[in-house]
Amino acid sequence: MHRHSRASASLVEIVVDSISTDGKSDVVIRIDRISKIYQTGDILVHALRGLTLSIHRGEFVAIMGPSGSGKSTLMNIIGCLDRPTKGKYFLEGVDVSTMNKAQLADVRNKRVGFVFQSFNLVARTSALENVELPLLYAGVSAGERKRRAREALAIVGLSERERNMPNQLSGGQQQRVALARALVNNPSIILADEPTGALDTRTSVEVMEIFQRLNRKRNLTVIIVTHESDISLYAERVIHVRDGRIASDEKVVNRCDAAEVLRTLPAVSTEMDDLESIEEEKEPI
Ligand code: ADP
Ligand code: MG
Repeated sequence: MHRHSRASASLVEIVVDSISTDGKSDVVIRIDRISKIYQTGDILVHALRGLTLSIHRGEFVAIMGPSGSGKSTLMNIIGCLDRPTKGKYFLEGVDVSTMNKAQLADVRNKRVGFVFQSFNLVARTSALENVELPLLYAGVSAGERKRRAREALAIVGLSERERNMPNQLSGGQQQRVALARALVNNPSIILADEPTGALDTRTSVEVMEIFQRLNRKRNLTVIIVTHESDISLYAERVIHVRDGRIASDEKVVNRCDAAEVLRTLPAVSTEMDDLESIEEEKEPI
């Protein structure tokens, strides 16, 4: 919480934002009293109401809350897809709340990886090409795109599937391609809005295992929105949002280890065509 007065706030901001250590103390997201008001005709919707939040590099955060409480609005602002109506947002010490659309797009492409409930892969485009897409937008050469996309597919255990089209992949495999695509730009943060919402239990835990591995081994900051409290237990911190404000912000006491949980689950998911991928070696990061 900010206990300092308004007058001293700007000085504190400068000090805080100039601290850039490479350890865990590094603040990667700092949101200061943001509001978001949507206007539809004459109606104003207050989606966020003066929300304040800091997230450190390497944290794994789950955001929960009832439908309409502002979770997606918050994720869109964190991911630089949208700007707050009021308040400040610093991403890695840079004030992104006043940037124009082109500047926001640039920050987003470099620093943020997105994963959605519905995978959002491009149809009739191979897994490899889907993963290459963000690099294409970033102007990376063809050879380098392939190399990095293959590396990202290996991390999610899908090297054997690089030529498959989305409709030739199970839901879990499609979500892993989406994860590889989110990773390929080497972002500072991964944002996932209901990433397991369309997946069965085992496949959900497999996806959480990848998030946990990336979070631990690469110190990647991971923020997920979920409706499922058992999924939130894979995070280290759970934030409840209600009416556009933070209702609670707590450390997970008995955090689940997805790799461990997978060992206790039956090897076959209810996804019919997922057998081969389970046999695949997951390459170390
Ligand atoms: P959640 O993800 O928690 O369900 P949202 O952030 O999507 O909540 O929505 C918060 C509130 O803002 C809701 O009342 C929703 O109807 C409204 N809202 C979200 N996006 C828009 C938009 N683009 N235009 C108008 N109202 C919106
Ligand atoms: Mg939502």
